[in-house]
Amino acid sequence: MLENYDLIAELTALRRDLHRMPEISGEEERTAARMSVWLRDCGADEVIEGLGGYGVAGIFDSGTPGPTVLLRCELDALPIHETGSPDWRSQIEGNGHMCGHDGHMAIMCGMARRLQTERPARGRVVLLYQPAEETGVGARGVLDDPRFEQIRPDFAFGLHNLPGMKPGEAAIREGSVCFASEGIQIHLTGWTSHAAHPEDGRSPANAMSDLVTRLPKLPEELGIAPGDALVTLSHARLGEAAFGIAPGEAWIMATLRARTDELQERLMAAARESAKAAAKAAGLEIDIETSERFAACFNDAEATAMVREACAEAGVACGEVDGPFRWSEDFGLFSSAAPSAFFVLGAGEDQPQLHNPDYDFPDAIIPQALAIFERLVRKQTD
Ligand SMILES: [Zn+2]
Ligand SMILES: [Zn+2]
Repeated sequence: MLENYDLIAELTALRRDLHRMPEISGEEERTAARMSVWLRDCGADEVIEGLGGYGVAGIFDSGTPGPTVLLRCELDALPIHETGSPDWRSQIEGNGHMCGHDGHMAIMCGMARRLQTERPARGRVVLLYQPAEETGVGARGVLDDPRFEQIRPDFAFGLHNLPGMKPGEAAIREGSVCFASEGIQIHLTGWTSHAAHPEDGRSPANAMSDLVTRLPKLPEELGIAPGDALVTLSHARLGEAAFGIAPGEAWIMATLRARTDELQERLMAAARESAKAAAKAAGLEIDIETSERFAACFNDAEATAMVREACAEAGVACGEVDGPFRWSEDFGLFSSAAPSAFFVLGAGEDQPQLHNPDYDFPDAIIPQALAIFERLVRKQTD
């Protein structure tokens, strides 16, 4: 029925259109509505909306017993002003699809078209458009939604495009593939005084500088193997920008990352303890907040082998990722729900980095992604 129809051209146009209308984490209303329409147009047997936020899942059910295979992509863009100037430049001021989730959605929409043309013969295929990946809350929201039971998979797969790798080449590793991460914000409060009489106040300056020095050294202090954890200071502020006041407040923000969830917990506990000890020693009040918690992403052996096999069948080169990526992905949470595998697909060696303001997903890698996902799905549902 769709013989002379150019799927890749349709997906490229869709991807560019999505790029024009980037919606940030938790605000993906229009993007989600659009994906629902697409899934219905492709004859999905059921479309679940509002899953853990604006999440959407399209279910293609063969009606015959068999495994449920879930493919996941992300709906959200970033609060980054686009500096590139493609014809499909962002039309929403201050927002941009700088992580390539527009491309991931287009690939998933391609799968919907393929499943429309050739229905699964057994089992079910679930195409999941997850919200709020960038803030680390979307996967949690989807898993905590009671309707997740309706789409609980036997296997789950996800991909991320990755600059710095040859376009359209895949890579994967078994076991840990992305670090866990979490942000910590430490607020120290003393009291201000005249800069001529600092002895009348209680400045958090020393406690702050101790923490700025100490936090990045925590992995070493804890005896964690080099390369398995790191603490990156991301922001620090002391008092106000004034010469006449000895400061009364300080703020420190850092991101903690580790290879496993257990290491991450040890690291976070140590960061809290150090902050409290520094505050106590200086007689300061302290308030600690944490946010953007990402679980470590762990690839199941069987699911990883399935990705390798799918790549081979699709004629896509699949390399080995030498160690886990230090960045995080909330796909990691799906590994607690089902055997899962997360792989990367090269976006080109000279491509800007993810989250750079001029990032633009390379449409040329859509066919390879589609071919890999299609083999993964057909293997289970043919
Ligand atoms: Zn991102
Ligand atoms: Zn991303």
